[in-house]
Amino acid sequence: MKTPVVCPKCHEPLVNTDCKLRSGTIVWKKACKDKLDHGFLCVVKDEDNVVILTGMVLNRNTSLKVCWDFINNKIVVYKGEIIRFPFRGKDVLEIPWFEPNVDEYDKLIDKVRKLITFS
Ligand SMILES: [Zn+2]
Repeated sequence: MKTPVVCPKCHEPLVNTDCKLRSGTIVWKKACKDKLDHGFLCVVKDEDNVVILTGMVLNRNTSLKVCWDFINNKIVVYKGEIIRFPFRGKDVLEIPWFEPNVDEYDKLIDKVRKLITFS
């Protein structure tokens, strides 16, 4: 996945913050998080500009989110904080892997919702 510059949903610039993972790696979080109808996060390893994680809000009310973990090729659906890595626990649902096409944001969210229904 290419590192996005703007939010794939509202096309506003993503807010960059750096953060340190438990492994000690410094990463950049690129987020659109103040919107009522959506939320987007991308975590990028700074030195090589590789996307390691991308997350989207599926339901703001229930805090349901989906996250692509590009390190382990896993897609997980969970409730709670958008970054809580690695993903574990009984409240985490894994769905079959596919590459996200974030340029078609709404289609992508629909696809995830369908996969959850059949999981
Ligand atoms: Zn946005």
